[in-house]
Amino acid sequence: MSVQHDPVQRADFDQVMVPNYAPAAFIPVRGEGSRVWDQSGRELIDFSGGIAVNVLGHAHPALVKALTDQANTLWHVSNVFTNEPALRLAKKLIDATFAERVFFCNSGAEANEAAFKLARRVAFDKFGEDKYEIIAAVNSFHGRTLFTVSVGGQPKYSDGFGPKIKGISHIPYNDLDALKAAVSGKTCAVVLEPIQGEGGVVPADLAYLQGARELCDKHNALLVFDEVQSGMGRSGSLFAYQHYGVTPDILSSAKGLGGGFPIGAMLTTNELAKHLAVGTHGTTYGGNPLACAVAEAVLDTINTPEVLAGVHSKHQHFKTRLEQIGQQYGVFTEVRGMGLLIGCALSDAWKGKAKTILEAAAAENLMVLQAGPDVVRFAPSLVVEDADIDEGLARFERAVATLTQA
Ligand SMILES: *Cc1c(COP(=O)(O)O)cnc(C)c1O
Repeated sequence: MSVQHDPVQRADFDQVMVPNYAPAAFIPVRGEGSRVWDQSGRELIDFSGGIAVNVLGHAHPALVKALTDQANTLWHVSNVFTNEPALRLAKKLIDATFAERVFFCNSGAEANEAAFKLARRVAFDKFGEDKYEIIAAVNSFHGRTLFTVSVGGQPKYSDGFGPKIKGISHIPYNDLDALKAAVSGKTCAVVLEPIQGEGGVVPADLAYLQGARELCDKHNALLVFDEVQSGMGRSGSLFAYQHYGVTPDILSSAKGLGGGFPIGAMLTTNELAKHLAVGTHGTTYGGNPLACAVAEAVLDTINTPEVLAGVHSKHQHFKTRLEQIGQQYGVFTEVRGMGLLIGCALSDAWKGKAKTILEAAAAENLMVLQAGPDVVRFAPSLVVEDADIDEGLARFERAVATLTQA
């Protein structure tokens, strides 16, 4: 039996939705691999990946199978009961990382909320109520709850909502001296993205992360890595910390973890996990069987030498061509990033116009992202076909050519 739906259009958005987003003029209705079709049947190449989420593109057969198998089996039982997909996924995440314990939730913000609450609870339990300060980076992004915007280093997201969470300070990213000057006995956690994503696709320097690790150890503070965007193969390693060889105490994951199905996770050690005893924290949907079944299939599929090696070679493919386009049209000062998280920093003449470039790309049937007003960001599927990369970048070049000739 099929249900008849009333037709809807982009114009309806402005009538029925809270106006906190400004979506594109077209509505995607179907996706397959790195291709997406809109309501009119127009085909687009997707280098935006649902904001670094769709690590296996659209409708990947392994994920469709995991989701539909689970959908026919068990959807939700809450954390009053545990479930098999959650336990399997937790075991696999533990096998693949430094972690010994996992907390599941539904988004990156929730994973960070759990991480920050854990850091404060550990400090409270072990050192008393004065050790609660959190040090984070300018331009960082950690989500949109009040705690996570307070820790995030972008006032445009945290101002205007009344008092922020107290005890948080921000230091310039990749500046070890600034971090050294800020950390003290009152610091409970240093929170960093190994690659700043929303802040402009800025990878950390190795010495910075190593220095942060040493400072945390010296001051009994926890090192928290927000890998919501950099994790799940995006950097070419399963998690970016593994590329750097600097291990955090707490790690947050989301975005790519579900490959398009909402899930978040906080990973930590036995020693720290015990501070979140029964009743201290929770979420109804966290560890939902559908989400965990999909995430298990994502992890199984991407955590292989072939897929991760592919991320490195595809990075080079993108970078070479983007640098060429940047030079030819004078649009970029730099093409940076790791793996398949790539940022093109706009030249002075194009500063502030990332959105204009996005719209020009969409007009050429290509979906790309921005990371702030001055950076065009690419976060495609980790298994994007080389032919799709070539075709997508040809469309991108056409968009840039049209803009620069206008
Ligand atoms: C996207 C993002 C978040 C927030 O994740 P949501 O799922 O939107 O809550 C947190 N941290 C980083 C680094 C992100 O890129």
